[in-house]
Amino acid sequence: VRGYKGANVAVLGLGRSGLVAARALSAGGANPICWDDNPAARETAESEGFTCRDLSKQGAFEGVAALIVSPGIPHLYPKPNPVVRAALEAGVPVDNDIGLFFRSVATPQWDNYEQPPRIIAVTGSNGKSTTVALLQHILESAGRESQLAGNIGRGVLDIDPPGDGGIVVLELSSYQTDLARALTPDIAVFTNLSPDHLDRHAGMGGYFAAKRRLFAEGGPDRAIIGIDEEEGLYLAGQLSEGNGDDRVIRLSNTRKLTGAGWNVFARKGFLSEYRKGKQAASIDLRAFTGLPGAHNHQNACAAYAAARCLGLAPRLIEGALETYPGLPHRSQIIGDAKGVRYVNDSKATNVDSAAKALGAFKKIRWICGGLEKDGGLDGLKGAAGNVTKAYVIGREAAQFAMQLDVEAEVCTTMERAVAKAAAEAEAGDTVLLAPAAASFDQYDSFEKRGEDFIAQVEKQLNAKSGA
Ligand code: ADP
Repeated sequence: VRGYKGANVAVLGLGRSGLVAARALSAGGANPICWDDNPAARETAESEGFTCRDLSKQGAFEGVAALIVSPGIPHLYPKPNPVVRAALEAGVPVDNDIGLFFRSVATPQWDNYEQPPRIIAVTGSNGKSTTVALLQHILESAGRESQLAGNIGRGVLDIDPPGDGGIVVLELSSYQTDLARALTPDIAVFTNLSPDHLDRHAGMGGYFAAKRRLFAEGGPDRAIIGIDEEEGLYLAGQLSEGNGDDRVIRLSNTRKLTGAGWNVFARKGFLSEYRKGKQAASIDLRAFTGLPGAHNHQNACAAYAAARCLGLAPRLIEGALETYPGLPHRSQIIGDAKGVRYVNDSKATNVDSAAKALGAFKKIRWICGGLEKDGGLDGLKGAAGNVTKAYVIGREAAQFAMQLDVEAEVCTTMERAVAKAAAEAEAGDTVLLAPAAASFDQYDSFEKRGEDFIAQVEKQLNAKSGA
């Protein structure tokens, strides 16, 4: 990180991104001052030689140049964070690792290129990880050097300056776009918008505002925007300068976009690209095993459009879509036994993503429940037609089950839910974990929940085969 040589920079939150930020600051000659309310996290930082100091104490921001806040820490809603507040009161700028990254990119270290690296940032409510992983897979298949970071795992400040013509692909959540003081990708993607994290953004307006910061004035050269929600439609309209404009690529899963401009859409299992009213490509996605369901066709459109902006040919992209292996916990097929398919979509942590997962399969024995999000479960109603029966997990399983309009059994634990669903499933059924809720009432993360599902499924399959 450049720009803070010799300066004290406070780092709040010592999870993965906080530690990476402290290391990067230190490597750039700054003096990080760290804090986390959790003593174990502080111990880890101290064991790396970082100074920890209680940033909520009076005068903690004297002589401090900036405060770097971890995305996991709510800074304004539902309650203002006292440390962030103290920094602001002391006139200290508040930023995060994403802001630090984009500031570093604008330094000489990144300047001496014949072909400067291109940075692609993907945001949206659902499909971000799938879109970036898919794009990365396409770039790898094309032999282009690329690095993947952000919300998907690797901290952005861990990225090495790429070689000439290299590509950086970032997954950015609303928690990350919200605070970053610099956000200047070359290509920005907005997949879709549905209610999520509303408590932290004080409602839908705040949530959208956090995401659209990626498209602010002086922002990306190219914007790829899903227009199936009103918000995306507005954003695309605001960014495009007129008919025939190449700055915006519109994406849709519901509309045939064959008019002016540059458009990519999916319908009935086919991806189509139209430019200035002419068809440029058509790809049959239906047999691509890493991309089941219409929601994945939307993700395919987003990754396809980004790859097109990078100059890749449709045929090459098509080949990569076909070989994409998929990500764990997203419509991940675990196995088949006696004609019953087991699918792990633990990442369906909100109502919209669960509805999409339910739309991708038929005759579903549906394992759902967990920590309910704001906004209620009404969004699941339309998808219920594919469900034979729900098996509800979570501490509040009874309360959750009452709100479903399908037959629902309160199972509470994953073990019981999988055992029941497996016992009752008939050939042709799909046992699907798509919780429509967060995992934190019973698990540390959606990954742990998905792993528990897989372990329980394996137990059932082994018992059934008499192993
Ligand atoms: P994110 O990184 O935005 O959370 P993922 O690619 O990890 O997105 O997918 C999260 C969940 O959302 C998955 O469980 C999947 O069922 C669902 N999903 C994936 N893509 C979409 C989409 N385009 N629209 C709606 N739901 C989706």
